[in-house]
Amino acid sequence: MADKVERTEEEWKEVLSPEQCRVLREKGTERAFSGEYNMHFEKGVYTCAGCGEELFASDSKFDSHCGWPSFYQGIDNGKIIEKLDKSYGMIRTEILCANCGGHLGHVFNDGPQPTGLRYCVNSVSLGFRSEG
Ligand code: FE
Repeated sequence: MADKVERTEEEWKEVLSPEQCRVLREKGTERAFSGEYNMHFEKGVYTCAGCGEELFASDSKFDSHCGWPSFYQGIDNGKIIEKLDKSYGMIRTEILCANCGGHLGHVFNDGPQPTGLRYCVNSVSLGFRSEG
């Protein structure tokens, strides 16, 4: 596994845009249907916008109609951390980049087969590397 990326919140402000900071570091959520990768279906790999780690393959992306990029699985075991999130009066499972601790979104159990999971991810937390 890659070396863990550790930066202070001040350092993150220097390398990320304000919107990326709000989502990745402060666990914000981008507006539904606003993200660059919501309706993006090219072949390639989605990376963490914070540290560049590969997080999702385009093969596992599907159109969930929920307004955010959705995947039925991560690219590899161990690259995404899950954490219980009881904020806003809901019980959800937060997903974070294991490498830099950046907030990605949440995972829900209403996804398609083969996993039945829906990794609901903010576009602003992602980068994309084309394999076309
Ligand atoms: Fe990361």
